[in-house]
Amino acid sequence: MQPISKSNKLQNVCYDIRGPVLDRARKMEEEGHRIIKLNIGNPAPFGFDAPEEILQDVIRNMDSASGYSDSKGLFAARKAIMHYTQEKNIRGVTVDDIIIGNGVSELIVLAMQALLNNGDQMLVPMPDYPLWTAAVTLAGGTARHYLCDEQTGWLPDLKDIENKITANTRGIVLINPNNPTGALYPDDTLRGIIEIARHHGLVVFADEIYDKVLYDGNKHTSIASLADDVLFVTFNGLSKNYRTCGYRAGWMVISGEKRHAKDYIEGLNMLASMRLCANVPGQLAIQTALGGYQSIDDLVAPNGRLCKQRDLAHKMLTEIPGVSCIKPKASLYLFPRLDPKVYPIEDDQQFILELLQEEKVLLVQGTGFNWKASDHFRVVFLPNVDDLTEAISRIARFLENYRKK
Ligand code: PLP
Repeated sequence: MQPISKSNKLQNVCYDIRGPVLDRARKMEEEGHRIIKLNIGNPAPFGFDAPEEILQDVIRNMDSASGYSDSKGLFAARKAIMHYTQEKNIRGVTVDDIIIGNGVSELIVLAMQALLNNGDQMLVPMPDYPLWTAAVTLAGGTARHYLCDEQTGWLPDLKDIENKITANTRGIVLINPNNPTGALYPDDTLRGIIEIARHHGLVVFADEIYDKVLYDGNKHTSIASLADDVLFVTFNGLSKNYRTCGYRAGWMVISGEKRHAKDYIEGLNMLASMRLCANVPGQLAIQTALGGYQSIDDLVAPNGRLCKQRDLAHKMLTEIPGVSCIKPKASLYLFPRLDPKVYPIEDDQQFILELLQEEKVLLVQGTGFNWKASDHFRVVFLPNVDDLTEAISRIARFLENYRKK
């Protein structure tokens, strides 16, 4: 019989966060092992409950959630998102400029499908949240990875961005606050990116899903608030800021130079219509979440659970010989560096598999984020202090054995 193969479109599409290492971890769990998971930014399983007010409102309104909504989303939810863009100083956004999706994930794929022709290029950060590279590739485009430089606190290297622009470049992706590095970009960097986008006629895609997960009193600027003469597509949602990943409630806001983008916007609207609408119970949460007071502020405050866990994880990791790490200003992740002189790793997926096998700790390797060298890994600091302490102690023991080899 003829083997059934996947489509050629998927040939170079890769999403390692849920890849072979996770499959191995699942098998080990089936065999009865307890694994400490520092691999996925999903707050709920670690005791970060959804705000009660949101939960109760969704339950109360479930009666009205059985039908399809408008394909762009419920009017009240989009109105609340519009008000949120006003709070973030993004000018000129109407309800019509907002599309609600099944999480930001669906909208990233949709936005790339609507824009890219075969051979088009998209500037994507390195390291990145790998869905961006996967979505570009699936849409027939090529991701050109621009460097986020560890030496500057993981800021985008504007020169490298300039160098990677060609006649086929259509847009630039910005993940701010960043996954996996925890970086938060200063306004100067954002202005530099706008300048480049303006000069080369690029669309700016801003993934801002962690815009409330900020430590040390840091403030977030939406890049779309800094100019009106560039087209911005800004992505945000409830998954992280409101600890409701499972609700699948995300949105996309089109702003700035919309007049020249009518055709692209028509494409976005058509793809949104083809999937009828986003999950309606999830949409019901949006108005309450954005209008309410129960965001993540208490958790990221200096004595909040997330801030304490970030501090602990950073301290413990950087005490390990040959490990350094830029302290995250935002988000849920650390992206430590393993000094290649101390840890000459050839294949970081294999390295992470060995750690899983020997110490029952699950991480994601740096190359899973399109980082080119085998010298980084990502740590999610959602587990409680006891589990984090145990996990990082095991990582330290594993690395000590590695040094002795
Ligand atoms: N963008 C970034 C940078 C993320 O880290 C994630 C999830 O981890 C997403 C988007 C996906 O979010 P959603 O749950 O809204 O699909």
